[in-house]
Amino acid sequence: GTGARTWVYDFSEGSKDQRDLLGGKGANLAEMTNLGLPVPPGFTITTDACRYYLEHGSTPPELADQVTEHLRTLEQAMGKTLGDADDPLLVSVRSGAAASMPGMMETVLNVGLNDDSVQGLARQSGSERFAWDSYRRLIQMFGKTVLGIDGELFEHALDEVKAEQGTELDLDLDAGHLADVVRRFKAIVAEQCGRDFPMDPREQMDMAINAVFDSWNSDRAVIYRRRERIPSDAGTAVNVCAMVFGNLGEDSGTGVAFTRDPGSGAQGVYGDYLQNAQGEDVVAGIRNTVPLADLEAIDRSAYEELMQTMSRLESHYRDLCDIEFTIERNKLWMLQTRVGKRTAGAAFVIATQLVDEGLIDMDEAVRRVTGDQLAQLMFPRFVSGGDAQQLTQGMNASPGAAVGKAVFSSEEAVAWEKRGEAVVLVRRETNPDDLSGMIAAQGVLTSRGGKTSHAAVVARGMGKTCVCGAEELQVDTKNRQFTAPDGTVVREGDVISIDGSTGKVWLGEVPVEPSSVVRYFEGELDPDAEDADDLVRSVHRILAHADEVRRLGVRTNADTPEDSARARRFGAEGIGLCRTEHMFLGDRRQLVEKLILAEGDDERQAALDALEPLQKQDFLEIFEAMDGLPVTVRLLDPPLHEFLPDLTELSVRVAVAEAKGHADEGTLRLLTAVRRLHESNPMLGLRGVRLGLVVPGLFAMQVRAIAEAASECREAGGDPRPEIMIPLVGAVQELEAIREESEQVLADVCESHGVDVRALIGTMIEVPRAALTADEIAPSAEFFSFGTNDLTQMTWGFSRDDVEAAFFHAYLDKGIFGVSPFESLDREGVGRLVEIAVEGGRRARPELKLGVCGEHGGDPDSVHFFHAVGLDYVSCSPFRVPVARLEAARAAL
Ligand code: ADP
Ligand code: MG
Ligand code: MG
Repeated sequence: GTGARTWVYDFSEGSKDQRDLLGGKGANLAEMTNLGLPVPPGFTITTDACRYYLEHGSTPPELADQVTEHLRTLEQAMGKTLGDADDPLLVSVRSGAAASMPGMMETVLNVGLNDDSVQGLARQSGSERFAWDSYRRLIQMFGKTVLGIDGELFEHALDEVKAEQGTELDLDLDAGHLADVVRRFKAIVAEQCGRDFPMDPREQMDMAINAVFDSWNSDRAVIYRRRERIPSDAGTAVNVCAMVFGNLGEDSGTGVAFTRDPGSGAQGVYGDYLQNAQGEDVVAGIRNTVPLADLEAIDRSAYEELMQTMSRLESHYRDLCDIEFTIERNKLWMLQTRVGKRTAGAAFVIATQLVDEGLIDMDEAVRRVTGDQLAQLMFPRFVSGGDAQQLTQGMNASPGAAVGKAVFSSEEAVAWEKRGEAVVLVRRETNPDDLSGMIAAQGVLTSRGGKTSHAAVVARGMGKTCVCGAEELQVDTKNRQFTAPDGTVVREGDVISIDGSTGKVWLGEVPVEPSSVVRYFEGELDPDAEDADDLVRSVHRILAHADEVRRLGVRTNADTPEDSARARRFGAEGIGLCRTEHMFLGDRRQLVEKLILAEGDDERQAALDALEPLQKQDFLEIFEAMDGLPVTVRLLDPPLHEFLPDLTELSVRVAVAEAKGHADEGTLRLLTAVRRLHESNPMLGLRGVRLGLVVPGLFAMQVRAIAEAASECREAGGDPRPEIMIPLVGAVQELEAIREESEQVLADVCESHGVDVRALIGTMIEVPRAALTADEIAPSAEFFSFGTNDLTQMTWGFSRDDVEAAFFHAYLDKGIFGVSPFESLDREGVGRLVEIAVEGGRRARPELKLGVCGEHGGDPDSVHFFHAVGLDYVSCSPFRVPVARLEAARAAL
């Protein structure tokens, strides 16, 4: 039965590994106690007891006896009795959940004081002032947190007494004044609660314990947990701890400290100290603290013991710790410790410092940092300060700092960028047509849409700075301007600065500095140089080790020689996705138009012949940039109408021309073609392999361009490794038809050049049917590459371009998913299809090469999944390559 259940543990009975049961504070108090550090004795009531209390509305029946037993042990250890009239033991009653929830719940100090024991405390301590100060603190904290009285009432009463004494400082009040404060506080309690402040010490303690349990469900705690995704039913533990006093005079005090700088990781003395004060004074900012280093001059021996204790804690926890301590009459007491939070940069620096100190090994260093932290370190930063005018603040959708001239359409962005201008693309919202403009821009600013809007998702994928949902801005794309809430009008060409880490938007140029980590990846900073900074050196060491331990290969998604070269510098081991559609844009649009409008085989072939040398040149440069490494080229994927004018726009143009009586033949022909190719659901229409099967010669032209480029490359002494990837295959028959045609072309080109260029032929797995029939497809495919963007769309039946703006916000709010399935792979659904395809494919063809080329390839959580299901590589945008290298290693450890 429950009679045997243990609800209370002495500090000497627990350990740091019992966070769930004892809460973080309790587990670490136990750990410090067992290390022999000077922790005041005490005991912890478990989170189990809290859960029982929250469920039943009362404490477990055995709790009172167990608390009595532990209290007796505590009293024996201290040689005092709780609230004794002559020599009282006082305790603190402190909250402490498993997950850190700073400042969210309650703590009551000085429990055990009453009208009698305050006299005993005064005699024992030799300080009346101290005793009355402690008593008024108890009534104030107890009144506020346990009895629920408005804290301002106490503050006003205290201020009144100070005003009567003509001072603003607590320290100017003597024992008599503080006794007066106590009288007024008790009157407040009586008036507000209709009962007296409890004089029975045990009643005080029990009421405080229940109040801590109740504080789990305070409004602010509930909101905090929702935001931080902490389970709402975990409950808090309660720590009852003998009081030590920092408010006993100038030889006493209280402080907080870090074992190293949580901002930079630098070693040194970091913290704040306040003389003659109790713990909450430091946080409340009532008086100014002094830097911890000053403690050395104030109390040398306590300072030295503190330094030794901190270094002891660091080597024990093998990590940066933060601590709370109190000095009572020159004696140091440790009141709290935990592994401390730190910035992304500090995380890397500290991890390698700990390796050098022999506390952890390199594997552990890799575990201690995350891909998200690395990504943060790669964004450029605004140099703080400056006098630019802030226009508004939107959502921080994709971090980084971007400065450029405002432009209001994708076309303008591309045109300005070609002229060498840095631009920021400003839109109400973006859509897939804006892709080229987003690529051309330094950053993207939208007035609508949240963090899963098209702009936000695409920008994050590209590592492009984005502020979205800046609702205060009135964006008028037609007149090429936007208006800020203060009436400032920003026109095309005006310089603005946007900060994707904070969402702030400024008029004019705020200076930026490139991240040192990116300069290192670019080869501009030598990590072994004498003056290399600690961060660069740490990132270098950790990634070098990550590359040794990871099993997953990391490739990149790149379609230009520049991106390919950069990704290679960032550590990419090939290209996993080279999209060919970007090669059909710009000036070449006209050639594509000719291809689409072609009547008869001859016209079509002429159009293809005109495109082929251009394609070949593209591939040649990419093969050179990726010499010796695989380059997976995806044959044309998007629907052809994406290369034609918009149907409505063109119809209007034709109608106007006809009304004026001069519609020309070409435009009419174009309109017919646009009508013919118009689709209601283009994502599910004529695209991918379907295009290759319907437009004669299209894929053959692309394969020939690849083969010609590879042959030339080889003839020039290079080592091209092309892989031809067929998109959107759903049935093996589709793949077989294209494969046959492609092999013929490859053979022809090899023969005419007299070289043997091998090209693997494989398929994307992005239609659910392909995943389900992978065992049939594998015999015709030398590799699979999971196109998880389309696979997610088609598995969920979500049109990505529509749903993100339309209702993802609501889905995230309602908790239908915690994160967009386009951001982080949906393991249960889409992931299940990946597993089925891996299993079926490998069964049919054991040497089948498996990779992934969706956005998910650079998402930390998804990378862990791809490792677990046994893929050979992930492929992601160049800026995510280092992130994927790191996360692939973390998945392998
Ligand atoms: P929080 O989790 O909000 O930091 P704590 O339980 O740590 O709350 O307590 C609040 C303050 O009271 C801290 O500064 C702490 O150091 C101090 N404090 C808690 N218990 C004691 C004690 N037994 N003796 C002296 N000071 C204490
Ligand atoms: Mg604390
Ligand atoms: Mg696709």
